[in-house]
Amino acid sequence: MRTLISSFLIATVSLALVPLPADPTLRGFFPQSVQAERDLEARFKAMPDPARMREAMRRLSARPHHVGSPYDKDNAEWILEQFKSYGWDAHIENFDVLFPTPVERVVELVSPTTFRASLQETAIATDPTSNQQSEQLPSYNAYSIDGDVTGPLVFVNYGIPADYDELEQRGISVKGAIVIAKYGGSWRGIKPKVAAEHGAIGCLIYSDPRDDGFAGGDVFPVGPMRPSQGVQRGSVADMPTYPGDPLTPGVGATKDAKRLTVATAATITKIPVLPISYGDAQPLLSALGGPLAPSSWRGGLPITYRLGAGPARVHLRVKSDWSLKTLYDVIAKLPGSTEADQWIIRGNHHDAWVNGAEDPISGLVAELEEARALGALYKQGWRPKRTIIYAAWDGEEPGLLGSTEWVEAHAEELKAHAVAYLNSDTNGRGYLDVQGSHTLEKFVNGVAMDVEDPEAGVSSWKRLQASRIREGATDVRTDARDRADLRIGALGSGSDYSSFIDHLGIASLNIGYGGEDDGGIYHSIYDDFYWYTHFSDTSFVYGRALAQVGGLTVLRLANADLLPFAFTNLGETAHGYVKELQSLRDKRAEDISERNRQIEEGLFKFTSDPRDPVTAPRREAPAPQLNFAPLLNALDSLDHSASRYDKAYDRAVAEGRTAAARAVNARLTQAERALTSAEGLKNRPWYVHMLYAPGYYTGYGVKTIPGVREAIEQGQWTDADREIARAAAALEREATLISGLATTLGG
Ligand SMILES: [Zn+2]
Repeated sequence: MRTLISSFLIATVSLALVPLPADPTLRGFFPQSVQAERDLEARFKAMPDPARMREAMRRLSARPHHVGSPYDKDNAEWILEQFKSYGWDAHIENFDVLFPTPVERVVELVSPTTFRASLQETAIATDPTSNQQSEQLPSYNAYSIDGDVTGPLVFVNYGIPADYDELEQRGISVKGAIVIAKYGGSWRGIKPKVAAEHGAIGCLIYSDPRDDGFAGGDVFPVGPMRPSQGVQRGSVADMPTYPGDPLTPGVGATKDAKRLTVATAATITKIPVLPISYGDAQPLLSALGGPLAPSSWRGGLPITYRLGAGPARVHLRVKSDWSLKTLYDVIAKLPGSTEADQWIIRGNHHDAWVNGAEDPISGLVAELEEARALGALYKQGWRPKRTIIYAAWDGEEPGLLGSTEWVEAHAEELKAHAVAYLNSDTNGRGYLDVQGSHTLEKFVNGVAMDVEDPEAGVSSWKRLQASRIREGATDVRTDARDRADLRIGALGSGSDYSSFIDHLGIASLNIGYGGEDDGGIYHSIYDDFYWYTHFSDTSFVYGRALAQVGGLTVLRLANADLLPFAFTNLGETAHGYVKELQSLRDKRAEDISERNRQIEEGLFKFTSDPRDPVTAPRREAPAPQLNFAPLLNALDSLDHSASRYDKAYDRAVAEGRTAAARAVNARLTQAERALTSAEGLKNRPWYVHMLYAPGYYTGYGVKTIPGVREAIEQGQWTDADREIARAAAALEREATLISGLATTLGG
């Protein structure tokens, strides 16, 4: 209906010989291009087919397909044939990476009683792929160092730094101990990292039933939640230091790449670690003595949660095969016509921990349907202005291997040519979730307005807005009601976009639907076709919606007359980040002075329960004032340039200034690059973006203006001033670049 009305208006207005109106949701298209693009998009949107997605999922998840397995290669070859049959120029690109697979795994309680963990997920009669044990990767955490240790057990909650402070106040040390942590609260690789820093010799991670087991609903196969033997596999590499192949940081893991040795690779854990089910965890936890765990630490098992240390003693043994494995990245291309040296890149991984129907196949089948539809348009004669590259990455699960190695191998070309990267990973029923570069926020809002939600019969944008108004806190509700654009989240390091945005500064977006179905099959043998087609997007209508969002995003980026970046949203969001940093400093200062005062007044001593004694925390030096002026000045410059650019953009689009747009497009691709700094973040030079990074102690929780934020959080005050200057310099570079673009556009 919307399209009919706007085309009617266009027809009427053009008769009157006044300029055609631009279409606000179709950002970057000149009035004379709008109708052709709308027609093309209507043809595109009709093509993604839920039945084909269902069959593709059945095929791709039929057998386990982790890195190095026969079916991983088989899938890559099948995907390659699909792209070719859709009319794409496609090939497989190989890399050789370190990917350890388990050889020996032992977890046993050796005193005061004995128990040996099964470490085995059980096959379920009604689930036809759950019994493929000979091909399943046993439950383990990849990149755990080999080890054979025995020690007292300590329960450490989620195993993040704050949990160790609590233990210390209770006089509990993990030195020489094996810790047991719950999944959740941080990225899993943080748990062994923090445990080792505190002197632990081993680490177990288990899925507590309160988090994704029976507390949330019936367990599989009756319901979608984690059964008692279900285990979450996963990488524990230190990805906040760098993702990708641990042996080749910064360069592609090609045949003849220079490699570190396993012993010198910084991202492998310092202590052995294994994940276990709550079935295996219960006997260990119930053998713990010591103080009661704080109430917020307790989970859903029918036991008394205690901290230890001991009397439970645990033996943990882990040994892996550390050979290199081959990755199969499938790379497909549709050549551009008039601006072919600008690349739009789209990806989703194809490898899984086991059968991986949800993660990643639910996202991949949507990507494949987009590719089929784009290929069909191409065969019918359509030519994108810009080059489109579709990727099906291998090795995402162990550590974003396939995307990172590809980005590192092609870094120079990508820095010169990449316009944007669009990622998806998993998909389900519910709300459109978008994170990404705020330079693309306005643009992607336009896409969300043009894709219908399959359940609500309104646009995906409208449905998301409704949920934010209904469920959001006051500021979220106000924003959703009053702001022209729905906000998108910042990107951390949780999927294959990481190397694009964090390492090269390529504007990136991550898309997926979800939020209506809970599940407890993540990274287990039960994430399979049976589970997905019983408990998730069973009719694949959200698969179709994802293909429509992905395809429209790509089509618009590839066809736009003027690339659709907008900078006022970036400026506004960055203002929010700086305000957060200011209040974080004030809060830290207040907390430190109040706690120091309580220590001086002896309050911890007076209130300690002699039967459950708690000692005073350590005194901290008072927080100094920080000078945020350089950041605030940079934001003023950015605001000024962004509004100049907006005016120039509106005029250039309304008047269809083709030559000016051409001149600006190539430089616009550098706008995200301007936000990077060559030397990278402190102690992790791989991360060069000054606005976004995964937290050093949270994993893929995003830190915005990460250098400053982490300096404040860790009380490294002299670093904070220097990091403020570096972030401010990045924003000043951005402001200068945008200002130059406005001038070129004629603003
Ligand atoms: Zn995934």
